[in-house]
Amino acid sequence: RPIIVWFREDLRLADHPALHAAAKASARTGAPVIFLYVLDESVGRPLGGAARWWLARSLRALGNSLAAIGGSLTLRKGAAVKVIPDLVRENDASAFYWNEIAQRPHQAVEKQLEASLAKLAVETRRFPGDLLVPPAAIRNKEGRGLRVFTPFWRRVLAMGDPPKPLAAPKTLRSATNIATDVLEDYGLEPTQPDWAGGLRDNWTPGEAAARARLRDFLKTTARTYAGDRDRPDRAGTSRLSPHLRFGEISPRQVWHAARFAADAEPALAPGVEKFLSELGWREFCRHLLFDIPELASQSLQDGFDAFPWKRDAADLEAWQRGHTGYPIVDAGLRELWHTGVMHNRVRMVVASFLVKHLLIDWRCGERWFWDTLVDADAGSNPANWQWIAGCGADAAPYFRVFNPVLQGEKFDPDGTYVRRWLPELKGLPAKLVHQPWRATPIELASAGVVLGSTYPEPIVDHTRGRERALAAYARIRKS
Ligand code: FAD
Repeated sequence: RPIIVWFREDLRLADHPALHAAAKASARTGAPVIFLYVLDESVGRPLGGAARWWLARSLRALGNSLAAIGGSLTLRKGAAVKVIPDLVRENDASAFYWNEIAQRPHQAVEKQLEASLAKLAVETRRFPGDLLVPPAAIRNKEGRGLRVFTPFWRRVLAMGDPPKPLAAPKTLRSATNIATDVLEDYGLEPTQPDWAGGLRDNWTPGEAAARARLRDFLKTTARTYAGDRDRPDRAGTSRLSPHLRFGEISPRQVWHAARFAADAEPALAPGVEKFLSELGWREFCRHLLFDIPELASQSLQDGFDAFPWKRDAADLEAWQRGHTGYPIVDAGLRELWHTGVMHNRVRMVVASFLVKHLLIDWRCGERWFWDTLVDADAGSNPANWQWIAGCGADAAPYFRVFNPVLQGEKFDPDGTYVRRWLPELKGLPAKLVHQPWRATPIELASAGVVLGSTYPEPIVDHTRGRERALAAYARIRKS
């Protein structure tokens, strides 16, 4: 009788506890294994467009990796709580294994499945999921999760290294004659219009690509990571986020590989420590989400419900399309649209601009990111938006308003990043590329820029936008 392994946000073979256990049991007893993925859009947040594209590619890669060692991926669509018991009955499965997801809606499904499979006398086994530390292990005296990053991360570090990653199975014994859906029928990838060309040019989803990226990062970029991670004009970060999001690589694998590299070469240590603390932010955001399932819909700080947000569809669209007239903001939003990611520093600048300069509700920006990011994460996305908006758990104060010109000049000093995404500003010298409205008519003409035509005028004046934001904040503080 077959064992079923249920894949969800862990689309890999290595360091996959449920798969590891099933492969071992199968080798011992001869039981065949069904490798299952269920596209269940009723649990958690429906995926955005860019993430759906990634998922399709990642599932294809997983299917190929399974096939290479004797397995085969079975696809189903529908509510897992119904599809899985049906599959168990159809195939008289004896056991059902999965790695948990520390999010309430997923846990509710896991519990429901445990109950219904128990009635069918099926053995159910859940394994640790994709966190370095489960949320239950880090609580304050009142039993709540921590709301401030630094003490949280100190607690994680004090727990020492997480368990070593598990090896991928070398061979698998797959159950045969299991009907599977055809991935292409799920419509995860765009057809007409095909907007995914930029994603295809920039990314290779799947476990092999994730591991190669980690290896490359530790060999090269890690050395300069601590200094370069804030520079959008340099390839200074790991670009692992979508791979981590879909579990093509686990945080434990990343942790141990990074520590191993730093032990072998002490010069890497500062970069590696900083990098691991960023992985800590992912962890922190997921722990927050565990405690606060409404993270994407509810401002965490009292008072923000009364915030006088502007409902301005035209301003929101100008921001989404990268037509605000602030080059660093527009470059970021165009990078996002084209590649499915945006540099972290620029994410902060564009988010602050939307919420503060345009006074648009942070949830509108969060939803846009959710739809366009390949790394759109149920924890990291809303937690970072709330942090920037000033209403989050461990938030930047609302009155800290990023100046998009100064941010551009500091982190993209030669304008390389801006020119890459805004070729219409290519001809401007570095001192003007972050503020084209300061150029004289002669300078604009020689760069071929016509403000208001080839590139927009600023949608809002920085000083006015800042004052308006502070006034709005003062109003909610008073109330
Ligand atoms: P690296 O600098 O190489 O960092 C390594 C890993 O650490 C990342 O892959 C990521 O998993 C994690 N990480 C780094 N920074 C953060 C952070 N601030 N918060 C949480 N985890 C972090 N990250 C997402 O993965 N998904 C999101 O949906 C997301 N939305 C964001 C929205 C806003 C408004 C902001 C300001 C940040 C958001 N981030 C999000 C965090 C961060 O921008 C990305 O994780 C990072 O840019 C990914 O690039 P990298 O893999 O090269 O990062």
